[in-house]
Formats: sequence, structure tokens, C-alpha cells
Amino acid sequence: MKNFEALGLSKKLLEAVESEGYTNPTPVQEQSIPPLLAGRDVLGVAQTGTGKTAAFALPVLQILSRSKTHGKRHIKALILSPTRELAAQIGERFSAYGENLDIRHKVIFGGVNQNPQVRALQKGIDILVATPGRLLDLINQGHIDIGKVEFFVLDEADRMLDMGFIRDIQKVLKLLPNKRQNLLFSATMPKSISDLAGSFLNNSVMIDVSPKEITVDRIKQKIMFVRKADKRRLLVNLIKDEKVRCGIVFTRTKHGANRLVKQLDQSRINAAAIHGNKSQGARTKALAGFKDGSIAILVATDIASRGIDVDGITHVFNYDLPNEPESYVHRIGRTARAGRSGIAYGFCDESESGYLVGIQQLIGQEIDADVEHEFHFSGAIPKPGQKPGKIKQKNQSKRNNHNKNKQKRQTKKNTKGDSVSKRNDNQRPRSKNNRNRRNRKRNSNN
Ligand code: AMP
Repeated sequence: MKNFEALGLSKKLLEAVESEGYTNPTPVQEQSIPPLLAGRDVLGVAQTGTGKTAAFALPVLQILSRSKTHGKRHIKALILSPTRELAAQIGERFSAYGENLDIRHKVIFGGVNQNPQVRALQKGIDILVATPGRLLDLINQGHIDIGKVEFFVLDEADRMLDMGFIRDIQKVLKLLPNKRQNLLFSATMPKSISDLAGSFLNNSVMIDVSPKEITVDRIKQKIMFVRKADKRRLLVNLIKDEKVRCGIVFTRTKHGANRLVKQLDQSRINAAAIHGNKSQGARTKALAGFKDGSIAILVATDIASRGIDVDGITHVFNYDLPNEPESYVHRIGRTARAGRSGIAYGFCDESESGYLVGIQQLIGQEIDADVEHEFHFSGAIPKPGQKPGKIKQKNQSKRNNHNKNKQKRQTKKNTKGDSVSKRNDNQRPRSKNNRNRRNRKRNSNN
């Protein structure tokens, strides 16, 4: 394994890394830093928790500190992040690593007053960390010019696409100058991401820190088969029995997260929810409480969990198993950080056994099951030969069934109408006429 010095980092950055207490580069840093310093584009499969922020922040800082700006500063590096939390986290890392350098950065995201952000931009900055919506908003208002960006980073690209940011990303790409260096990080590499990468990366170096390597041995994993209705009591028992002081619980829905916080509260467990419907203030407060230890349990949905980087999380509870196996790997990676150990519990109810099959296929191992606990329910154990389940397919088939039933009902109704009442016959052509009229109007407007 190389040390940081061998990666070609400047003295000031080596000092910063040392004062952060890093002794050796992580694999993603070891593989990304040299090609980035050499001016190459990089495509990286890496998740939060692997040290990927330093993997791009250190070379960006080094490259930018090579050239002196004359006159007002302009944005030379743009980092796009899907969530506010991750953007803030990246900003913190830039502050830490760039402490000894004359480089200014700013983090901007939506959901807060834009004025302080605009004032900071007006003073001039070198590095901008942004979520796509606020970035485009401020570009449209004329507060941001990304026409001189030399270094573009797209972080957590898969999450970006999941959150529907593809159009925004394409708009941003169009505004960037042609000559620039690019980096794309994604936890997974489905075709949509490799297509996106292919659309703007040039002759890139591919780096793969695959999820299997991330399910580190330090994380103990346990599956509990349980009825849906018993999950809450199982969770409360585990939190109390294991005296959990710093744990994170994942639910599938925002509503589920809120409800669970109330229920934990009734059991005198100090918890807070963090998800996309919470205001920025509430999210920051919950995270701060969790970091300082006044909140023992954070209940989160997947999207909000991106960017939660808290050392010392001892327990991760998959209260609902995720329908995307990659999310499982990401979730359990919230514990056992910075060399510590941790335990990840997965609660699997009768509707989730297919998800468990998918997760076990991805991580390439069968997770130990605890069948001795009070609420053990053997009906949730995957059946032999069970296929990995996907919620989307289920919804799709439900929707198809729903449509089929609707069609059936419609046919029945029409047949009935034909024989019983003439009014229905009159109504149908009329609504069809209306539709034609609407279509004509729309066409003439185009
Ligand atoms: P990231 O994947 O960028 O979110 O980083 C996850 C955590 O790892 C952060 O708390 C970093 O401070 C920490 N970290 C990054 N690089 C190193 C390193 N080389 N050695 C130890 N910790 C690191």
C-alpha cells in the first residue's frame, strides 16, 4: 500500500491529511489521486464511507493552488451533489483539507434563503459545491457563471438519477466549457450511469471499489425474521437490551420514519427523524443532536442518509429491508467507520424475503439469522429457490392488474349502458369530441 506522499500530493496537503489523522490512503484515494493529478478524467464506483471525498478534493485543491488568480476569483471547480447533507459534508472536507491554502469554496443548496449564498458568490469563490436545483436557479438569476470551470465532479451519480436530476445535469453540462477535467462517482454502475459517463468523460480511468469490498468484516450482520406487526417491539427490545447510544434505523417511507419516532418516544427512547420532507433546519438540528449524543437514534430514509457521516454509530437497523440491494450495503456502511466495529440488524417480514435474497446475492454471502429471539417468525424465511424480489415489479403488476380490472369494469359498464340506457351512448361521443377539440387546441398552440 502506498502512503500519501507517494501519491504526489503537495506538502501543504500532506500536512492537512496528517492533521486529519489519516495515516494511509484508502483504496479509492490510492487509485484516483495520481490520475487526477495527471489531468485524466476518472470514473469511480465508490460509495460514501470509502474516502471518496478526499479522493477528488485533494487533487482539486492541488491543481487549483498551482495557478494564481489575477483579479476577482471565478469558479474553477464545480462539485454537484444530490443532497444537501452530502453537499454540506463535502464543504466541510474542503475546509479541512484546504485549511493552509488560499482557496475559497462555497456550498449552496435549496430549502434555505438564497441571499447569504448570493453574497458569498459575489465576493468571488474558486470552488462551488452545489445541489442541482439551487445551482440552476442561481445561474438563471445571473448570480453564477460556470463558463470557466476547469474541474467538474458529479458525485453519487446513481442517486442523482434516482432523484430525477438527469435533466438538470444535462442542462449544467451544456453550460460548462468544453475543455475541462471530469470526475464521476457512483455507488453502482447500471447502464444509465455508464451512458451518462460516456456522454462527458474523455478517455477516463475506471476505478472500482465494489460494494463487496465495502461490506467489511468489521460489520457484524444479523437477520431477524419477524412479522411486520412485531417489528416495533423487536426494535425497542434490541435498543434497550443492547443499550444503544448511537444507532440509525432505516425505514422505507418518510411517513414510516415519523410514525416510528413517535412510537420510540412512547417507549422513552430519544429519537429524531431525518428525511426529505423535513425542513433544512430540522434536518440540521436532528443531525447535530445525533452527533453530540443527545439523540440516541436517528430514523432515516435512504435518500436522507446520503452524507450522514457520523463516527461511532454502533448499530444500524434495517427496520424495512431495502428493495435495492445496493442500498443495504450503503446503509450498513454507516457503522464500523474509521476502524471501529458495528452491528447491522435486518428485520425481514413476510413480504420482504425476496429482498433478502437479492441482498444476499449482491454481497455473496448468507447473512446469519437469529432464530432465538422472542418475535421469530419462520413464515418470513425465503423459500428454497426464491427469486430476488423487487417492489417496482410488484407495483407494476399491481398497476397492470388494476388497469385490467378497470378495463373489465369499463367493458361491463359499457355493455350494460348499451342495453339499459341511451344516455351513456350520447355521453361517450361528446367526451370524445371534447378530447378532439382539446387536442386541436393544443396542436395549434405548439
Ligand atoms: P467519504 O467516503 O469521503 O464520505 O469519507 C468517509 C470518512 O472517512 C470521512 O469521515 C473521512 O474523514 C474519512 N477518511 C477519508 N480518508 C481517510 C483516510 N485515508 N484514512 C482514514 N479516514 C479517512
